[in-house]
Amino acid sequence: MQKALIIGGGIGGLAVALRLKKAGLNVTLFEKNPTIGGKMGEIRSKGFRFDTGPSLFTLPELSDELFELFDKNPRDYFTYTKLDNSCRYFFHDGTVVNAWADIDRFSDEAYEVLGEPKNNLKKYLKRYRKLYQTASPVFLFNAFQRWKNFAKKEFRGMLFHLHELDSLYTMHRRNKKAFQSPHMVQIFDRYATYNGSDPFRAPATLNMIAHLEHNLGAYFPDEGIRSIALSMEKLAIEEGIEIKTNSSIKKILHDGNKVTGIVCDGKEMNADIIISDADVRTIYMNLFEGIRPPKSIINKELSSSALIFYWGVDFNSSLDVHNILFAKDYQSEFKAIFKDKILYHDPTIYIFISKKVVKTDAPEGCENWFVMLNVPANHNHDWEKLRNDARMYIQKKIDKLLNVNIREHILTENIADPVTIERNTSSFRGALYGNSSNSLFAAFNRHANFSSQFKNLWFTGGSVHPGGGIPLCIASARIVADEVKTYINKGEF
Ligand SMILES: Cc1cc2nc3c(=O)[nH]c(=O)nc-3n(C[C@H](O)[C@H](O)[C@H](O)COP(=O)(O)OP(=O)(O)OC[C@H]3O[C@@H](n4cnc5c(N)ncnc54)[C@H](O)[C@@H]3O)c2cc1C
Repeated sequence: MQKALIIGGGIGGLAVALRLKKAGLNVTLFEKNPTIGGKMGEIRSKGFRFDTGPSLFTLPELSDELFELFDKNPRDYFTYTKLDNSCRYFFHDGTVVNAWADIDRFSDEAYEVLGEPKNNLKKYLKRYRKLYQTASPVFLFNAFQRWKNFAKKEFRGMLFHLHELDSLYTMHRRNKKAFQSPHMVQIFDRYATYNGSDPFRAPATLNMIAHLEHNLGAYFPDEGIRSIALSMEKLAIEEGIEIKTNSSIKKILHDGNKVTGIVCDGKEMNADIIISDADVRTIYMNLFEGIRPPKSIINKELSSSALIFYWGVDFNSSLDVHNILFAKDYQSEFKAIFKDKILYHDPTIYIFISKKVVKTDAPEGCENWFVMLNVPANHNHDWEKLRNDARMYIQKKIDKLLNVNIREHILTENIADPVTIERNTSSFRGALYGNSSNSLFAAFNRHANFSSQFKNLWFTGGSVHPGGGIPLCIASARIVADEVKTYINKGEF
């Protein structure tokens, strides 16, 4: 039985562990932290519970599939509910728009509040549904960088639809053509931030993300986002996967161009297969001796990072689960993040309140606020100062919106910034999604799920193909597992 070692217990690492176990391999997963989950972490403080990273859950069927592989009912492990309102948007001029799950209701609201012709939203979502259906089999569920895959039926089919990929337009340019209201353009431009990118430079192909949320639905787990990772860990243990926490891998061993094992706690362990769920840049830079990281990852622009305040507040607000308080000038905000690499003075603020769904996440009469700004990845910024500046910008905007003095209502505060994100998850400079997608050829630029330098080494998770976010990390695990199975069947080991 082949022995597979997995570095990192984020969602991608857990998903690939399950798939390889199902394929009959002997699987051990190493996580440097005391608990699994990676970015899908949790903070508990004074009766409040906060999910530390992801908050929006789409394509739940991809997580469910992992349980179904073992003939288990996913609902025995975790449950989730579709949200009626995927997000409440607040604009600088006082306009408020709800992105209702029911498309007719969303179209009606966009018409009534913004004057957006009703058919525009439907036309837009239809376009990106079609694009997703064409592109996802090739881009999301295949090792797209393997030339031999181009012989597959779905790849050949794709060749006739290349013009539909919309990769010659930026997201913003396409959205400006699609909608009359600048507010609708801003709502749909925001999807670039779902993989840490800039809508004024990222390809319109990424408008597909809106399809996931609006056509397929935004969901929320009934016990919070972290319950997804915990339920996968439970299944993994039941199925005999060995999970070693507090186990930091210090080195990947190789013999010529073939990886052979790892070093953990000063001990060497042999392996037939090594799969990394950690940031691919960190792995190449820190775990190999005497090699140069591949050109495909260095000198590329990083995705954005985040500055997050986890506030326990002592009142029930009129906000929804997901709320956005937009910057007035979105283009200047992205210029500040990616070009000037500074904190923008009028930042778009995201407020996520899981208490609206999970009643036990805050004491009675209180709410757990996750208040996040997009910021540049760390380039030796003075984060102490920037935290204080950000707190001031945020409080000013919230005070005006809710007519409160929010400072007087905060019972507990924890903060994450790019430095703490890097420390906790090993993401290079705290960038949330590896490299950014700020180029029209972004999909072609991501690091592959396999190593071209080393045999028997694969990569899963948000820093590699097909990208960041819960569903894509799970998709990357599927690609890796399919590759490994093909290798085994061919007797390549
Ligand atoms: C603030 C924030 C908001 C987000 N919002 C959303 C959202 O709303 N929806 C969504 O779908 N996605 C969102 N994401 C993205 C999503 O959380 C990530 O893409 C996904 O969780 C990353 O999973 P991963 O498998 O890449 O591993 P990670 O979560 O990055 O975990 C990697 C693990 O590897 C471990 N590790 C690293 N090096 C070593 C080593 N040498 N030895 C042992 N272990 C090691 C780390 O400790 C870590 O646990 C968000 C992320 C953040 C941070």
